Amino acid sequence: MKILVLNCGSSSLKYQLMDMMSQDALAKGLVERIGLPGAMLTHRPKNGEKEVIVADLPDHTSAIKLVLQAVADPEYGVVESLNEIDAVGHRVLHGGEKVSGSVLVTHEVKQAIEECFELGPLHNPANLAGIIACEQMMPGTPQVAVFDTAFHQTMPPEAYIYGIPYEYYQQYKIRRYGFHGTSHKYVSQRAAVILGKKPDKLKLISCHLGNGSSITAVKYGKSVETSMGFTPLEGLMMGTRSGDIDPTIVSFIMKKDKISGDAVNALLNKKSGVLGLSGVSSDFRDLEKAADEGNYRAQLALDVFVHDVKKYIGAYAAILDGVDGIIFTAGLGENSPMIRSSICNTLSYLGVSIDEEKNEASRGAEVDISKWGARCKVLVIPTNEELMIALDTKEIIEKM
Ligand code: ADP
Repeated sequence: MKILVLNCGSSSLKYQLMDMMSQDALAKGLVERIGLPGAMLTHRPKNGEKEVIVADLPDHTSAIKLVLQAVADPEYGVVESLNEIDAVGHRVLHGGEKVSGSVLVTHEVKQAIEECFELGPLHNPANLAGIIACEQMMPGTPQVAVFDTAFHQTMPPEAYIYGIPYEYYQQYKIRRYGFHGTSHKYVSQRAAVILGKKPDKLKLISCHLGNGSSITAVKYGKSVETSMGFTPLEGLMMGTRSGDIDPTIVSFIMKKDKISGDAVNALLNKKSGVLGLSGVSSDFRDLEKAADEGNYRAQLALDVFVHDVKKYIGAYAAILDGVDGIIFTAGLGENSPMIRSSICNTLSYLGVSIDEEKNEASRGAEVDISKWGARCKVLVIPTNEELMIALDTKEIIEKM
């Protein structure tokens, strides 16, 4: 079985054609600058040279058409005909409250995606455009929507309701939704396999630390609390996002700088986080280097980040009433031994004790970096959202 996985952004589109037998990508690629001058596709077949195609791509339909041509190209394609593609799995940002799992795309599902345009203004319109484009280009091929918010729909009300007048929840659906759900679901399922236990026997804390970062408490296979909220701005301080701040800061900056609410929103999303704090970079590699060279603000940014992560782990350990395992994933979680070590060095009260040699050596593979006999395991698990989307898609179309 072959499944095309699509992740449509407002002006970009990532894809992978997955072979479900080997669970490996036959080809992956990226379309950039959709709707802008200089649009191009970079196509990488598994066993071949990368192919760069420059084309006029006014919309998602033309971008998807080009992707499908590349995938079935006689020279650099990986299938002989598009009929070999059994289904398409779409990453969709926001499913609101109606969607609690991956679903076969129907008229109602498209409506639900559209109803969430306001909640995911950058992503949901692009996600829907991708679905409609595939319906046109591959009529009859089943399509599945996999939502970033879905895994968190198991949170209890006390975890998702904010302390503001209840009418705002009723009228505007203002509540915690949570994001990175596909990643948290994938790594928590993998953790159960690695630990040799059933998911319904485990209490896990999943730390997705990348450019965007979130932490999720997973109790017996289900998300019960997560750090991102109404939007992906809440929670940990991130590459360019502030994370948690006192809401009064927004109106205070508006008055002081005489700027609009939208401008403060942009400031908190794009110019804050470790970038704004350090004045150096949003990339943790640059920060680690600058801190090593004695840059105070770079060191401060790293310290605040680590402090934030520890705070959430402590809070979630309390919510879970104990922890069997802590998972590190995404760019930073998978690749920075220094960050993992700094986070874990005060978690002995949870039974955490990591083996520094294993921690240093772990790159790009699934590893248990805990010391032998540690009560709470610490696992590094590379995330694979595309595979999770493909697996959900496969499960749904097999039931059709
Ligand atoms: P995104 O949220 O955009 O998907 P990623 O999960 O790819 O982000 O993570 C990207 C971040 O991971 C980079 O900004 C960088 O800070 C961090 N990162 C990647 N490799 C390393 C490394 N070797 N050491 C420290 N940080 C790293």
